[in-house]
Amino acid sequence: MNQLGLLEHFFQRPHNRLDRAELRIAGRGWLIGALSHLDTPAPFIAMMPQWEFLDFLRDEAANYPGFQLEMNAEVVEFILEEGRVAGVRLAGGAERRARLVIAADGRSSLVRREQRLPLEVLGVPIDVFWFRLPKISVGTALRASAERGRLLVMIDRGDYWQCAFVIPKGRAAELTAGGIEPIREAVAAAAPEPDVSELRTVDELKLLSVALDRLTCWQRPGLLAIGDAAHAMSPIGGVGINLAVQDAVAAANLLAAALAAGENVDDLLSKVQERRLLPTKLVQAAQKAAQERILGRLLGPGPPLEQAPWLIRLLDRMPLLRRIPGRMIGLGVRRERVQSPNAYAG
Ligand SMILES: Cc1cc2nc3c(=O)[nH]c(=O)nc-3n(C[C@H](O)[C@H](O)[C@H](O)COP(=O)(O)OP(=O)(O)OC[C@H]3O[C@@H](n4cnc5c(N)ncnc54)[C@H](O)[C@@H]3O)c2cc1C
Repeated sequence: MNQLGLLEHFFQRPHNRLDRAELRIAGRGWLIGALSHLDTPAPFIAMMPQWEFLDFLRDEAANYPGFQLEMNAEVVEFILEEGRVAGVRLAGGAERRARLVIAADGRSSLVRREQRLPLEVLGVPIDVFWFRLPKISVGTALRASAERGRLLVMIDRGDYWQCAFVIPKGRAAELTAGGIEPIREAVAAAAPEPDVSELRTVDELKLLSVALDRLTCWQRPGLLAIGDAAHAMSPIGGVGINLAVQDAVAAANLLAAALAAGENVDDLLSKVQERRLLPTKLVQAAQKAAQERILGRLLGPGPPLEQAPWLIRLLDRMPLLRRIPGRMIGLGVRRERVQSPNAYAG
């Protein structure tokens, strides 16, 4: 946003700023990540409702003469001509032809459903119940609370907590079969502060299925997949959006000039995957390790946790060390820089 000169406008939209991550485990809170030291114009995570963010993008993009947005336009099919993707067909049957179609349509992308590109599944042992709880205190930290058999993450959304209750994959039906009470008890035990009585029925729990996978080839003539369509990210670390945005920046940097010059960009498409595969692989490897070594063990059977793992204790004790997770989450691996005549030079 800063590189496009949009940061000031962005901050005018409602948002919350988080600059620390805290984990509650074995009876006390531990500070495990910090972002405030980052040398960037916005050293924090801005939590903004999705509709605000999308409205912001639409309003800013409207300043560009070539921009056009169609709402309620579900793509149901690719148009194929002589082996090339030549556009898309919408639910109502209308066609949109294009020299390049970029599939940025998330984990259940059409490229996956139509098996247009090959997929490698890395596997995930978790799913998430997503719900809201009322909030009493004010804070600037992302909070998590872990005990044997459960993990609750609480994201501060101003006047409520957005909660993610992590469960073993495929066990949602079994866990909700006994009604809301057992889940309410588990949430109350994990996080004493919010008022769990507001969680009234299992219908308030939205089940989010977690996936971790990637396409082994992100492109074919006329088509490029980026973001979760190319590599579905687990929620661990909260970095999927960073990766998706950085894919978009890399794609623009590599393709925009050639597209503007009216050239065929088919031969350039593989460069986007070449550039973005390393960060994708590194982040997914870290997510997979955390899922298997930490979450899998935590959510499995065993005695109550009496001590926090050594890494958590170390992060809490050493402020300099806490900067590493903050850096990984805030800036990621292989940062992209907007290369555009509209980019802010500072
Ligand atoms: C439970 C959970 C929690 C997560 N929490 C975080 C987090 O805190 N922070 C973080 O950074 N990442 C998080 N992630 C990962 C993050 O959500 C994704 O990595 C990120 O949203 C990917 O962005 P994207 O633009 O590629 O896809 P998406 O955000 O999935 O966007 C795809 C868009 O395409 C549209 N679309 C889909 N199909 C079609 C179609 N056929 N026609 C037209 N439009 C279509 C959809 O409506 C949607 O708007 C989480 C993931 C999960 C599962």
